[in-house]
Amino acid sequence: MAAPPPPERYEAALLLAAAGDALGFRGGLWEYCTAGAQIHAELRALGGLNRIELRPPEWRLSDDTVLHLATAEGLCSGLEGDALLQELARHYVAAMEDMEGRKPGPSSILGTSQLRPGEPHGYPRPEELPTLIQVSIESGRMTHHHPTGYLGALAVALFGALAVRGEPPEVWGAELLRVLPHAWEYVEGVGVAVGDNAAAWDFFGDSWRRYAESRGLLEGCGPPRVPALPTPEERDAEYARWALQGWAGRSGHDAPMVALEALLAAGDSWEELCARAVLHGGDSDSTGTIAAGCWGLRWGLSAVPPSMHRALEYRPRLCRAARRLHELAWGR
Ligand code: MG
Repeated sequence: MAAPPPPERYEAALLLAAAGDALGFRGGLWEYCTAGAQIHAELRALGGLNRIELRPPEWRLSDDTVLHLATAEGLCSGLEGDALLQELARHYVAAMEDMEGRKPGPSSILGTSQLRPGEPHGYPRPEELPTLIQVSIESGRMTHHHPTGYLGALAVALFGALAVRGEPPEVWGAELLRVLPHAWEYVEGVGVAVGDNAAAWDFFGDSWRRYAESRGLLEGCGPPRVPALPTPEERDAEYARWALQGWAGRSGHDAPMVALEALLAAGDSWEELCARAVLHGGDSDSTGTIAAGCWGLRWGLSAVPPSMHRALEYRPRLCRAARRLHELAWGR
């Protein structure tokens, strides 16, 4: 078994996930800008990444990090099973009180408004896969009832777990496709809206199979074939091909896809990761937070300019949650 990652990696993951969100969001300006080339031009006018200090109010966190923190702090309870899901629901409801100026998505607003916490009603070790499937799907379902939405939560949880285990992004796509049938067994077993879920199930896996095939990511297909896509225009065009209604990274299937593509292409370069996963014409804070969090788990903080994380909103909460999650996963 791989050696436990140092706690600093968990801290890097939470801090950089928040940095990717704040940068991609830019108070809504960049989240809703549809041209990556314009974002890159504005970045140059600001003096480039190294000249930006991610600090509120200009670079405040968006809904993505507030809900990510809610998930992290819910998991910090150390609870399991239904008690954990109740705790997560409580954190999501509370998080929705902190959405002023953070542009939460309509599904999150609707989903959390229907939660009634209190009422009855990973993968670092293979035997934990059932827990990863359950917690990611059920936490995802609290805000996004559609399989394309909550399977995005599963994909991100799985990618994070694989990164913790030291598995390279080259294998994450095939691993996701391998896990999907287990996820269906879980959803069928729980028995909630099985017919509706079945009808909408295939889109996510079909999209991922097409993507993985196109990049040579399926097992036995040799080394990955990731196109260079050197300009923002080319990246916008490519990401838009995977998107629903042309808004790249807005959905559960393509947000982790844009993130994985960026991780594959960027290697250990933080700047390249930002160019590809954060500074594009789609839903840049969502793809940015996923990619930057996974990148932090792999590479840590040392190659990232300190101005990207030292003044982040909620920095102490992010660090506290990271330390606690590491302690729960690996012991002191
Ligand atoms: Mg957001």
